[in-house]
Amino acid sequence: RAKAAGGNRYELADADSDARVIARHSLTNCLPAALDNGEFFIEYQPLVRLDDGTVRGAEALVRWLHPVHGVLGPDQFIPLAESTGLIVPLGHWVLQEAARQARAWRAEGTCEGPLRVNVNLSPSQLRHPALVAETVAVLDSSGLDPSALCLEVTENALIGADEEELRPLRQLADLGVDIALDDFGTGYSNLSYLRRLPVSTLKLDRSFTRGMQRAPADPVDVKIVEGIVSLAHTLDLSVTVEGVETGTQAEHLRVLGCDTAQGWYYARPGPPERLHTLSLVDAAS
Ligand code: C2E
Ligand code: MG
Ligand code: MG
Ligand code: MG
Repeated sequence: RAKAAGGNRYELADADSDARVIARHSLTNCLPAALDNGEFFIEYQPLVRLDDGTVRGAEALVRWLHPVHGVLGPDQFIPLAESTGLIVPLGHWVLQEAARQARAWRAEGTCEGPLRVNVNLSPSQLRHPALVAETVAVLDSSGLDPSALCLEVTENALIGADEEELRPLRQLADLGVDIALDDFGTGYSNLSYLRRLPVSTLKLDRSFTRGMQRAPADPVDVKIVEGIVSLAHTLDLSVTVEGVETGTQAEHLRVLGCDTAQGWYYARPGPPERLHTLSLVDAAS
């Protein structure tokens, strides 16, 4: 601490990181009981087809209703669950619940056409030896068709994976489950590597769609998205864009040939009933 002002700032930073360590510690401690106590819930965010505006499905996003801290987002507890291993039972619960919900939507005819549900898979779940068996068991018990399930895996979780490590995903893909590469473009994967992955969808990270918020759109972002869409379509992959917040963005992305969009412009993540209202509104208009 050479300077008084600097010292002051350091004290603040220390107190702050102490608080974070304590918070992290106490959250980690109550994670296992939280699962038993039913404190987790899922919000669903619609995925919308850019060509005709119909709802194609929804992504399941987990939340934690903490008895003291209120609703916590996944960024606040997924890393803790990942480092303690709790992500495996938690992820299994999300899959089970989302599959049950998707089956119910389908039975209710919640939207025209076959509705699908997207579920995020963490790196530990990917490496877990029971992944394929448990996923098959969930599909069987929920009665959900494999093609109604899309598992989202981040690009970073797959970078460097060899054929052996990809086998479970390939088995799931062979069963008809859709695999999406989430946050695409934020990792440093070799593009030719895409050919080796059993994926059918690229989810383009929000950072690429930000430049489309204004008209005219950022010309460099336009070129990048154009390039990715053309590569994806050449490889028979469909392109989903995340973080669509304005109609201008949606229109740019539609013209650029993106297939599906997700974002606040259409709907924020919400309770499962909201999907019903949304598609009814669509059908009525
Ligand atoms: P993700 O899979 O990339 O999910 C998209 C995130 O973007 C969600 O954040 C969503 O609420 C947010 N988002 C959607 N539309 C917009 C928009 O128009 N603008 C902006 N600024 N944001 C938007 P959320 O719900 O906080 O989830 C964060 C991340 O947590 C997810 O990123 C996913 O990686 C992870 N996650 C969520 N649920 C699960 C889960 O059940 N299991 C695992 N392993 N990870 C999960
Ligand atoms: Mg995702
Ligand atoms: Mg994503
Ligand atoms: Mg993302």
